[in-house]
Amino acid sequence: MTNIPGVAIIGAGMAGISCARTLVQAGVSVQLVDKGRGIGGRMATRRVTLDGCDLTFDHGAQYLRPTRDDFAQVLHHAGARGWESDTALVGMPGMSRLARNLAGELPISQQVEINAITQDGGLWHLAGPAGQLQARRVVLTIPAPQALALLGRAHPLAAALADVRMAPCLTLMAAFPPDSPRPFSHRLAPDHPLAWIAQDSSKPGRSAAAVTWVAQAAPEFSATHLERTAEEIETIMRPLLCDVIGAKGEGALYARAHRWRYAQTSQPLGQPFLCDADGALYVGGDWCLGAQAQDAWQSGQAIAQDILARQNAV
Ligand SMILES: Cc1cc2nc3c(=O)[nH]c(=O)nc-3n(C[C@H](O)[C@H](O)[C@H](O)COP(=O)(O)OP(=O)(O)OC[C@H]3O[C@@H](n4cnc5c(N)ncnc54)[C@H](O)[C@@H]3O)c2cc1C
Repeated sequence: MTNIPGVAIIGAGMAGISCARTLVQAGVSVQLVDKGRGIGGRMATRRVTLDGCDLTFDHGAQYLRPTRDDFAQVLHHAGARGWESDTALVGMPGMSRLARNLAGELPISQQVEINAITQDGGLWHLAGPAGQLQARRVVLTIPAPQALALLGRAHPLAAALADVRMAPCLTLMAAFPPDSPRPFSHRLAPDHPLAWIAQDSSKPGRSAAAVTWVAQAAPEFSATHLERTAEEIETIMRPLLCDVIGAKGEGALYARAHRWRYAQTSQPLGQPFLCDADGALYVGGDWCLGAQAQDAWQSGQAIAQDILARQNAV
């Protein structure tokens, strides 16, 4: 890459996108990189084609309930639609579309994992299996434990990162024929192993070719079974789901499990971001402020504002 971007952002989830949008609007050159195949991180949608029909499963964030006007406005502009109420917003045909719409034309290199960052002569060098990138500033918008692994335990920000706690979540995606039971559109039962179950096909803009469900296991259940294979997790979770919704397990058209190792913050940092002494390295994400996409968005905004304030002060 010949042009060195002003800011390299590692992580194209809601925090990275939020930060990049504000910087680009202010004229700062930005390069986002993400190890994933899609954009949006935990704002994730799995697409499956069954007998020629496209099905979608929101296997990460289920819906967004913005409490801040600026975030609500941004979501409406990105095409968010109400699910069951005007306050629970979803993307169509899936949550990842919202992230993609929010990212717009931002420069994002996908499937680029960064596993080493070093600073030398006023420049950051980011390296990974896909190659190298240089930038004047670096923003990490990745889960706190992954930021800690990247920076190392000797880094001055390590102690603060180590205090953050993020819980895992095992998720089951399952599809049943259109005439199968639909006892509810969603169910929150914190004491059940499947603490959250959503009838994904009841969200607006989804295919009517199947009844699709997303079940998310409670934190304790998820931690207990975290190291099992995806097949084992599916085998354990599928009967639990069928029992709750009154469906026959063998009648499932599709069933897959997904493992989120760092799903939701259980102990946040308590401030919108971390930054080194000279404002050259920032670390942010939902875990700074809470466990929701709005927290990620706010963290990204705060980082961008801080970078712009420092630039204007020079
Ligand atoms: C199962 C589940 C259910 C949820 N339900 C809701 C909900 O209903 N409502 C709600 O508001 N929120 C919900 N959340 C939380 C919400 O998804 C997150 O708060 C938000 O998406 C986090 O955004 P982020 O940008 O901070 O991090 P992420 O979305 O995690 O983005 C980080 C990105 O960094 C990339 N990355 C990581 N390491 C590297 C690396 N070394 N190199 C390159 N790229 C890297 C990842 O691929 C990822 O795309 C849920 C989350 C999960 C997992």
